[in-house]
Amino acid sequence: MTPIILHIDMDAFFVSVEEVLDPSLKGRAVIVGGNPEGRGVVAAASYEARKFGVHSAMPIARARKLCPHAIFLRGAHKRYSEFSARIFAILERYTPLVEPMSLDEAYLDLTGCERLHGPAVATAQRMHDEIRDRVGINASIGIAANKLMAKVASEFAKPNGCFRILPGQAARFLAPFPVGTLPGIGPKSVQQFRRLGIRTVRDLAQLPLALLEEMYGEWGGRLYEKARGISRSPVYPSDETKSISRETTLEEDSTDPRLLEANLSYLLEKAAAQLRGEDLRTRCVTLKLRYSDFKTVTRSRTLAVPACEDHILFAVVVDLFRQLFTRRTRVRLIGVALTGLTREAPMQMDLFDTTPHSTRETLYAGIDRIRGKYGFRAILRATSHNEE
Ligand SMILES: [Mg+2]
Repeated sequence: MTPIILHIDMDAFFVSVEEVLDPSLKGRAVIVGGNPEGRGVVAAASYEARKFGVHSAMPIARARKLCPHAIFLRGAHKRYSEFSARIFAILERYTPLVEPMSLDEAYLDLTGCERLHGPAVATAQRMHDEIRDRVGINASIGIAANKLMAKVASEFAKPNGCFRILPGQAARFLAPFPVGTLPGIGPKSVQQFRRLGIRTVRDLAQLPLALLEEMYGEWGGRLYEKARGISRSPVYPSDETKSISRETTLEEDSTDPRLLEANLSYLLEKAAAQLRGEDLRTRCVTLKLRYSDFKTVTRSRTLAVPACEDHILFAVVVDLFRQLFTRRTRVRLIGVALTGLTREAPMQMDLFDTTPHSTRETLYAGIDRIRGKYGFRAILRATSHNEE
């Protein structure tokens, strides 16, 4: 049976929510994120604002220069979560196999559902229309035989459409497009490839596996498969979250341990917040470093007692970092992963932690509540740093 995987992604989600709540914003340049006078970054920009070169993750100050007449909104995480929940409720009526990637993005596995729902494209169109009619938000939907190609397809569907890449056509479809079309290949990799004379996916697909592995290690094998539209990653429904991970490619490769630890702290906080949000604890913490030569190394530690608190997990990840990091090679990407997730409450208390448990629990419940109201960045560890 041919797998049928959908990638669904709302168009300019935060902006679209604001437009539903205030229809006078429709068709105007709207930018959501941070304080326009301050240091924040753009969380979302309307298509009208994008015409001026504004895009998400850009510093607000820069967006203000490019598009001074835009309407700047602070945004409210709570509103977006509510809209998100309504959208996911619709998706889950089609299949229980829904893997949320963020508030406005998910993978769905509709394999074998054709008898129930009809042909995949018609089903996607129905889903799209239902979200538009009931929630007022436009979605773009990609349909393909795996997650990688479904994500590629949803990019082609944008804005406000459905796009299918037929099974067996993945490699042929990808070949003429720039390598940056592949998810996971960002602007820095595109530059590096260009220096090697590789511009299109076809160019990349011509490199032998052995060479790619020699150049990039484990990542080389992934590139080899990506260039052919191959991906084996299954759709994990949300209540079967196997791991929570966060990683970031640094603005500039670095050997500065303070900068690296600050990034690590931020990533860990985000991962731990999601962990607690899903009422989970982790048994295993993994640190990942990718060096400027693309060599990737990981180190893991299993915890004696499953934990979800920032200060416990951060101590572990920083210890792993100090063991692993040699300062000899610049780091280009840093990441953390939490695996062995469990809903069990810990049976054994940490003997050396003199803070009463209830105080800690209240502290993190408070932090999570503030974030629910004002967004993740409303409160951060003093050690956290990010350039998102
Ligand atoms: Mg989106």
